[in-house]
Amino acid sequence: MNAIPPAAPADPAPQWHALPAEAVRRELEVGEDGLDDAQVRRRRGIHGFNRLPKPPRRNPILRFLAQFDNVLIYVLLAGAVAALVLGHMIDAAVILAVVVVNAVVGFVQEGKAEAALGAIRDMISPRANVIRGGARTSVPADELVPGDIVLLEAGDRVPADLRLTHARNLLIDEAILTGESVAAEKHNAPAAPDAPLGDRTSLAFSGTMVAAGQGTGIVVATGTATEIGHISTLLANVEPMSTPLLRQINEFARRFTLLALACGVVLFFFAVHARSFGWADALIAVVALAVGVVPEGLPAVITITLAIGVRRMAARNAVIRRLPAVETLGATSVICSDKTGTLTRNEMTVRSIITAEGFLRVAGAGYAPEGGIATLHGEAVHPAATDPVGRLLLAGALCNDAQLHWRDGRWIVDGDPMEGALLTLARKADLDPSQERGTWERLDEIPFDSGHRFMATLHHAPGGGGIIFVKGAPERLIEVCTSQMAGDGTGHDVRAAMDADYWHEEIAKAAAHGERVLGFAFRPLPKLASRLTFDDLRDGLVFIGLTGFIDPPRDEAVAAIRECHTAGIAVKMITGDHAATAAAIARQLGLSPTPAVATGADVEALSDDELPALAARTDVFARTSPQHKLRIVKALQTTGAVVAMTGDGVNDAPSLRQADVGIAMGRKGTEAAKEAAQVVLLDDNFASIVAAVSEGRTVYDNIRKMIAWTLPTNGGELLAVVFAIAAGLAMPLTPAQILWLNLITAGTLGLALAFEPAEPGVMARRPRDARAGLLSPFMLWRVLLVSVLFLIALLAVYFYSLSRGDDLALTRTLCVNALVILDTFYLFNVRYLNTSSFTLRGALGTRAVLAAVGAVALGQFIFTYAPFMQAAFDTRPVTWQDGGLLVLLGIAIMIVLEIEKWLLRRFRLFGME
Ligand code: ATP
Repeated sequence: MNAIPPAAPADPAPQWHALPAEAVRRELEVGEDGLDDAQVRRRRGIHGFNRLPKPPRRNPILRFLAQFDNVLIYVLLAGAVAALVLGHMIDAAVILAVVVVNAVVGFVQEGKAEAALGAIRDMISPRANVIRGGARTSVPADELVPGDIVLLEAGDRVPADLRLTHARNLLIDEAILTGESVAAEKHNAPAAPDAPLGDRTSLAFSGTMVAAGQGTGIVVATGTATEIGHISTLLANVEPMSTPLLRQINEFARRFTLLALACGVVLFFFAVHARSFGWADALIAVVALAVGVVPEGLPAVITITLAIGVRRMAARNAVIRRLPAVETLGATSVICSDKTGTLTRNEMTVRSIITAEGFLRVAGAGYAPEGGIATLHGEAVHPAATDPVGRLLLAGALCNDAQLHWRDGRWIVDGDPMEGALLTLARKADLDPSQERGTWERLDEIPFDSGHRFMATLHHAPGGGGIIFVKGAPERLIEVCTSQMAGDGTGHDVRAAMDADYWHEEIAKAAAHGERVLGFAFRPLPKLASRLTFDDLRDGLVFIGLTGFIDPPRDEAVAAIRECHTAGIAVKMITGDHAATAAAIARQLGLSPTPAVATGADVEALSDDELPALAARTDVFARTSPQHKLRIVKALQTTGAVVAMTGDGVNDAPSLRQADVGIAMGRKGTEAAKEAAQVVLLDDNFASIVAAVSEGRTVYDNIRKMIAWTLPTNGGELLAVVFAIAAGLAMPLTPAQILWLNLITAGTLGLALAFEPAEPGVMARRPRDARAGLLSPFMLWRVLLVSVLFLIALLAVYFYSLSRGDDLALTRTLCVNALVILDTFYLFNVRYLNTSSFTLRGALGTRAVLAAVGAVALGQFIFTYAPFMQAAFDTRPVTWQDGGLLVLLGIAIMIVLEIEKWLLRRFRLFGME
């Protein structure tokens, strides 16, 4: 076996699965301590980064052409052809310009959005836990090289192809490789040389997911050399840029277009037969109107708005993995949040130690091992190895996977913060955890799981025999312990019968202060065993005592919860922690002065029909397991709530999927949770959820504003032309002018709304009804009102100009300019749908708004005064006085609409507040 040549690109790869683990180590020249920096660098030079090639971007030409693949654009193109056939070159050219401008805006913005989404996705690229240079560290998964020792635990995505050297109850879901839906059992024994992929039980393949257990493996292949690297089809898997809202808009636009065409046909026949228009003139007028009312730019502009929302959320530490979450976040009515690390800082410090001998205070803050242990009277305590305190410190240091390091001028923890705090505690009593770990060799362990809520380790006792240490939720340990360490104050190991009442009382006291309480127990084994099973914990356990940890609430969370309350969003804490601890923290956070608490057991006792009522009125769910979370989400959803739910563990995946918005923790979350979630929080912070909700509301507001702007501005011109035809008057706008209007305003003013910042008070309203469609009664009212106002204004200009004896061409030029000015003023009104626009902030506008207004103004000056445009569109120069009158008209309409807004708010019509 040793004769197998070293892995070089041209050689056939060794059959890693069939080699004994030792041979793999030798082959890849790696010892127990892992690779050192020099080895990593050298190997990276040979093998490159552990990356798969990015999927090729779509061909830009195809991407551009795809912009034309839309019913709305077909209608426009048909219109251009019709104009061309009728010999109306200008009209055909303007329609084509509309189509091209639309496609270019769509193409550029879509490209930008895709690039931004790609960059944001890189922000949550996975990491791997490795042993390098003898220490456990976390590195970006793409920096792994062959020979690296990787640690796996439940919820991890395997970062490279690994030959397992250690596996404990390891189950790996290999569906993406083998299609097998049942997770495969893995161990470290060599598999048969001819075993097919699915039977290579000694390998963990890159890209597969650890469903349960723990393992350690040596990287044998990275990047394209991995099994997944051989499958290229997977790479093409790009998330579509679509959301329910976008589909709703597309569907609406399609129907609207069909309706417009039907009306166009009627109008055409009416004009030809009842108003004796020439059929060619009537046709071109109808085509221009249809082009004018088709909201062809809307889908692209809304996609852009969503993409901007994604970018803004990422800037506030919420990374969107699935686009629909942007919309749903804005409708969120309940946020169910974990406690530890999300609402609290997850910076644990042991504050108290409670044994049968009494209560001890621990001084110091943070992870620095400074401060000592003392009695309530201030006498320093120096525990002996055999007394309860000494045994508790030892259990805390050994039943522990964390490491404490002095790095960059401060103490930091690799691993679970609570375990880190136990290491600090040990050091405060002059116990060196790494030395103890060497003396008490660990043989096996049962890892912590939020389902069973404890962790146990089996050690070789230096004096002979073995010992099991257990730490976990104290009630669980008290239940199974048959005796307790009593101590006699002399440092001896004295036992007594279990006094459960005493412990429960002490737990309640500590928890009432918001301390997180952890229990410790041990079991001596006269005969050394090599495996630890749940059966070993059934009897013979001796309870040692308790520790109380403080984990202060995050200041930002307190403010964010207050914001949720004003925004009508209910916040519920769902935690694995003790009920009293959770309630105390909830009070500190301002969740409620008297939080209603329910436990996992309460949830279990209720049927699916009874649960919704409890779920709705409860603020804190304590001692819950991931299964309870799933039921709680479902129960809340039956009450009509839109539920955002946080999670981090592999078992949280079902509830994250069930929630309307599943939110995974970027730092402490497993890959399984991140993949099930729609949103990943970069800083694990509750405040970031609330920030994302606020951005989500802004996005939805902006989309509403776009619709509220687009439909009536199109509607006004439509009504004016229809009115003219019906009344047998000369048209107030020529077909070419209608097309010009569409060209000049849609790509500028409409687009500016995509960049709008949040309105003031965006978090002072109740969540919107997620089931209500976009075209709410308010929107319909707005579309109707503004269309009619525009019609009246336009007719006023039309008749005033004609009555003055102006030539029809000048009248029409005035009408076009009037419409553009009305559109612009209306834009300022629509920017604030819920509050007044008559503010300094409202008047100043944003850069996007000002740029759009500038572009439109420039376009209109050219349209009105440039001789070549006068020739093409039959326009006439407008006097300054007339221009001033048109602006006054715009201001008048704006005032009317501001009064309308005020009245709606005053009388709370259409749900306005
Ligand atoms: P959250 O509030 O985010 O749900 P939590 O820490 O309160 O998190 P879990 O992590 O499920 O919830 O922990 C539940 C209980 O399990 C804790 O209160 C503690 O008693 C115990 N526990 C937590 N971590 C460990 C660990 N590493 N080893 C042993 N017991 C643990």
